[in-house]
Amino acid sequence: MHIGNYLGAVKNWAQLQHQFESIFCIVDYHAIVGQYDPESLRQRRKDMAISLLSAGLDPNVCSLFVQSHVPEHTELAWIFNTITPLGELERQTQFKEKSQRQESVVAGLLNYPVLQAADILLYRADLVPVGEDQVQHLELSRVVSRRWNALFGRQTGRTNDDGSEEREEYFPEPKPLLTPTRRIMGLDGQAKMSKSMGNTIGLLESTEAIWAKLRPAVTDPKRIRKTDPGTPEVCNIYHLHKAFSPPATVEHVATQCSTAGWGCIDCKKVLAESMETELVPIRRRAAELANRPKEIDEALAAGADHCRTIARETMKDVRDRMGF
Ligand code: SF4
Repeated sequence: MHIGNYLGAVKNWAQLQHQFESIFCIVDYHAIVGQYDPESLRQRRKDMAISLLSAGLDPNVCSLFVQSHVPEHTELAWIFNTITPLGELERQTQFKEKSQRQESVVAGLLNYPVLQAADILLYRADLVPVGEDQVQHLELSRVVSRRWNALFGRQTGRTNDDGSEEREEYFPEPKPLLTPTRRIMGLDGQAKMSKSMGNTIGLLESTEAIWAKLRPAVTDPKRIRKTDPGTPEVCNIYHLHKAFSPPATVEHVATQCSTAGWGCIDCKKVLAESMETELVPIRRRAAELANRPKEIDEALAAGADHCRTIARETMKDVRDRMGF
């Protein structure tokens, strides 16, 4: 997990778990789309669990589990594949972007949002906390939900305005719960922070490793000399300050930058300190958890047990309504 994931999603989830009955899933079936090493998948799954738990997800409050531990996800995904219009999948921006970068495109990349629809609808979830770039995938889940309900929902005995038989809305149409934090850009200042772009800071990276990345990170390109006044709004370091530094510091940064009161390295040093304040406790919790692997396994097992019960109930209804 990198700090973009943390600021853009997980920090918010840690609050939402107290407001809603929440389910969080480590999506290892999604992670195998594309080349991967089976042994490192196991490690990545464990690392993700440690990151999520140390970043604030509390297994006593929410359900956290590994997707492949509830195989109903793929069963429902297959069923949804049979009713999802191909055109809807080909239109997905993420598919278009990712498929352009690959020589040979696997079907799983195209069908990725169908599995996402299954991830959501298996629990008949009403709300999904997403960033703006995921809204289109969520819209697909809504299409799938509507289609399935229209085809297989039980007839209610009432008629619609157009004279057709009304059917139950077995699956809700999940709505986005937009994350308030803005998109976090990568250290190159060019694209969203993302592992595939190699422009990230890991949530659990050491102080030294973070500084080694912050030091050369791109700032306002027009600030060439220390005496050139800068424009904080165009600088990614300023936006990271907004995410990590207290409001008084953010104000100070804006003044110092726009009056050429300090250099970018001074500014980055202050950012590094603010990041330490927030990230050190997370790193400490992660180190403690890594020493207690049984605790992680137990948390994931309890989450999977709870989710399996819901998933089996849904699949029983789905099979029943679809004639299996
Ligand atoms: S002083 Fe800070 S906010 Fe201004 S350009 Fe440099 S790094 Fe960015």
